Amino acid sequence: MKNSDMRLKTAGVGRFLFILAILSVVLMAAAGVQAEEACTHEEWSDWTVKWEPDCASKGTEMRYCLKCEIEEERELPPTGEHEWGGGWYLVKAVTCGAAGKETRTCNVCDKTESRIIPATGKHKYGAWQVQKAPTLKKTGVKVRWCKGCGKKQTGILPIAKPYAKFTKKTYTVKVGKKLKLLPKVQVAGGDVIKKWTSSKPAVATINYKGVVTAKAVGTTKITFVTKTGKKATCKVKVTSKKK
Ligand SMILES: [Zn+2]
Ligand SMILES: [Zn+2]
Ligand SMILES: [Zn+2]
Repeated sequence: MKNSDMRLKTAGVGRFLFILAILSVVLMAAAGVQAEEACTHEEWSDWTVKWEPDCASKGTEMRYCLKCEIEEERELPPTGEHEWGGGWYLVKAVTCGAAGKETRTCNVCDKTESRIIPATGKHKYGAWQVQKAPTLKKTGVKVRWCKGCGKKQTGILPIAKPYAKFTKKTYTVKVGKKLKLLPKVQVAGGDVIKKWTSSKPAVATINYKGVVTAKAVGTTKITFVTKTGKKATCKVKVTSKKK
């Protein structure tokens, strides 16, 4: 065997070994990859929160494979539980006739919610006022307004009933003096005094205006009659000048 031949043979073996070494490294790597792929992730850690969700934004939680430690993440939905720290704030006050409105705002996400407060419907009316006075022949009209919403209500005033009375049962006057009697008659309804009379004209007389003239000490009955026939009587006591 020639020297040159030996050298050739040795080189051939070296090349073969080199290729074998490379091949084994590649195979081992492939086997390693295969081993990783082969994990079926059957055992996981517990889920742990990575990012807390709040009322409006999502959160995340994660877990890892206990064997290969690969991580997995999933979303946590927003809680939807807003923090209405400030409570309801009145935007428009409720009245009997108009609905009110309230709003509130979340401290975290600024979401604003509003709600309607329905009208109470309970009107608070003021006193009735006469819009058109009734007469002895026609009904009248009365009106009143709600203090809360201004709603107007009208009503009917019945036909006026005639009446006749004095403000006092007995009037006193000194001899020689005059006294204006104060009768009450349904004037607005259209009634008027038609006639005045004194039962004892010697004690006191009465004129058509209801003015008494005292003549002598004593008592007389003064009567008036209205156009509708109503009648009222009072006593007039005439006392002496000296008293
Ligand atoms: Zn795994
Ligand atoms: Zn919120
Ligand atoms: Zn009202």
